[in-house]
Amino acid sequence: MRILITGGAGFIGSHLTDRLMDEGHEVVVMDNLITGNYQNIARHQSNVRFEFIHHNVSNHIHIVGPLDWVIHFASPASPVDYLTLPIETLKVNSLGTHNTLGLALAKGARYFLASTSEVYGDPEIHPQVETYWGNVNPIGPRGVYDESKRFAEAITMAYHHKHKLDTRIIRIFNCYGPRLRLDDGRVVSNFIGQALTGQPITIYGEGQQTRSFQFVSDLVDGIVRLMGVEHHLPVNLGNPQEKTVRELAEIIKELTGSKSEITARPLPVDDPRRRLPDISKAKSLLGWTPKKDLVEGLSETIEWYRKELESKQVLAPSKS
Ligand code: UDP
Repeated sequence: MRILITGGAGFIGSHLTDRLMDEGHEVVVMDNLITGNYQNIARHQSNVRFEFIHHNVSNHIHIVGPLDWVIHFASPASPVDYLTLPIETLKVNSLGTHNTLGLALAKGARYFLASTSEVYGDPEIHPQVETYWGNVNPIGPRGVYDESKRFAEAITMAYHHKHKLDTRIIRIFNCYGPRLRLDDGRVVSNFIGQALTGQPITIYGEGQQTRSFQFVSDLVDGIVRLMGVEHHLPVNLGNPQEKTVRELAEIIKELTGSKSEITARPLPVDDPRRRLPDISKAKSLLGWTPKKDLVEGLSETIEWYRKELESKQVLAPSKS
């Protein structure tokens, strides 16, 4: 197949690119590299089945030749990134989603939208099931991401109903692994970076808020499975193991052997108090459950960051 991945140079997009290239497909990556990194996909550059187009999908998209899938992953995705890039975030999830849907329709391609557990906002239903409509503050700082992803889901469903476009929507819960940018501000990259460089580990608020962390290869596996099934309603993809942020800090401190102290910082506005996916649908529809244990996944991720930091020569000595 010939597959377009927007945001294909980003964290998740590049792992999906690897998987689809390994399966023998032709992959076109489109990315404006504002949060993505070309190094994530550079290994494919001499492959004849691979093409990179440096373009912002919020502007009109032109692709020569046929496409079997349009996979829309482009968007700033960490709270720090989307607070720094609020208008870009709103545009890529509204105009960018419209442009990619129009492209899929014109090419007779199937369409895959990366949505997010953020559509549930600060949830009042726990764990979060796909039928829950969410609790989002549209005018708060996170609204630029949450509301635009909600719009992206709405317009994707409208193209499905109005134009009979063959669509998929996933709601991604916190994902981590190699290539998560060290400076993107998310909890896993912050804590590992802080632990390895001997900086204080910054817990926001009391650290009693919860998240559920899935390793990127599990997510990619769920995405590929959903491509093979005809189902148009949103599907949660996440790891149903809930941890407090404080527990995560302690695990990372232990795994890195770090001497860093754990310190408190103010809780960001509208930070969801808890988040846990109900994955019954993914289980029954796709036969999917996450395989990677948290400690194993974090250990692999820590090794990747260690190498990154070694090349920058900023590692701290670990506990003896
Ligand atoms: N967090 C934290 N310290 C950090 C970064 C994040 O305590 O240095 C907390 C944040 O307040 C949130 C959780 O970790 O409760 C997950 O934050 P992240 O930015 O990774 O993603 P979110 O799930 O909020 O989108």
